[in-house]
Amino acid sequence: MPPLFVVGPEGKTSELVNYRVRGNHMVVDRLFAAAELRLGDAGSERRVRIVTAHAERLLATRACREYEPRFLAACTMYTSAEPCAMCAGAVYWAGIGRVVYGLAERRLKEVTGNHAENPTLDLPCRVVFAAGRRPIEVIGPLLEDEAAALHAGA
Ligand SMILES: [Zn+2]
Repeated sequence: MPPLFVVGPEGKTSELVNYRVRGNHMVVDRLFAAAELRLGDAGSERRVRIVTAHAERLLATRACREYEPRFLAACTMYTSAEPCAMCAGAVYWAGIGRVVYGLAERRLKEVTGNHAENPTLDLPCRVVFAAGRRPIEVIGPLLEDEAAALHAGA
């Protein structure tokens, strides 16, 4: 198995860690935001970056680090698929004012299948946002067939 390095918060440091393989997943007994597999030898090393979070959550986290809440309230997150419950929570806490998505979460489940290694949460983002104290405009689903094509075979 190739060596796996957990990458520090700024991406400048890394630490070699142990892992085990279970099915299609690599299991690391630590919390981390990103890790890298280092393949090949010193002369031809190739690094493969692995992240543990969905893109929407990473974007929301990055946005609230870099921008003021007042600015984010006027921003729109565009995403090919409806944010899952975790990502919808991140959008809410980041203070992003609007979400536009292509493929509904329920339809994504139909495209990718529902298997034990990647269970989905069937909870529309509108339901998550409706439980909050700040309104978030939601536009979607839009162009679902085109958005589904991006996830086919995923
Ligand atoms: Zn998500």
